[in-house]
Amino acid sequence: MTPPPFSKTQRGADLLTEHRKWLARAAEVASLPVSQGGSPHPTVRVGAVLVDPAGKEIAAASNRFAIGLDRRRPERYKSGSKSLWINCAEQMVLMQALRAGKKIEGARMYTTLEPCATCAGMIGELKIPEICVPVDAMRRYSKLKAKYKGSIETGRIKLMETGVRLTSIDLPTRLPDPPAPRSPRTRKGDGCGEKKR
Ligand SMILES: [Zn+2]
Repeated sequence: MTPPPFSKTQRGADLLTEHRKWLARAAEVASLPVSQGGSPHPTVRVGAVLVDPAGKEIAAASNRFAIGLDRRRPERYKSGSKSLWINCAEQMVLMQALRAGKKIEGARMYTTLEPCATCAGMIGELKIPEICVPVDAMRRYSKLKAKYKGSIETGRIKLMETGVRLTSIDLPTRLPDPPAPRSPRTRKGDGCGEKKR
């Protein structure tokens, strides 16, 4: 049976609640223990979730090492190396879904940070119709280093040209910064980028 049509405001409110729920889920995935799929990144832990048109979770992933890679090597966390070793959450969630043979047609993606140029290309190629990002994550853009800004700017163009809608979601509260991961243990001064507290 077809559900009764929502009024415009009701539909908007319900959709916002839905968006917020999935962004919270994406943040939760990023902050899981590393052994359970949480992000091992020492400073930027990102979560992404794919949700099907019926509102069911297809896959969820963090920015992490590909399965099988040795994440205990401290040199892989060094500045300049991290981005070579750790894949973006958006890539991981797409691959996880495809590896499991899930249908991703019409799926919406939720991610806690705005996608980089590489991810934006993949999202466009796979014809993901919409990607939702917290407003705060988009505001963060102005504080980024030039090379990251360039990547995000290119990503925005790629999303636009491939017809992916980029939606910023206002959250009732800022998503909490996930705690720093515990493993691998790193020695002081090894340049792993752990923030001083
Ligand atoms: Zn990316």
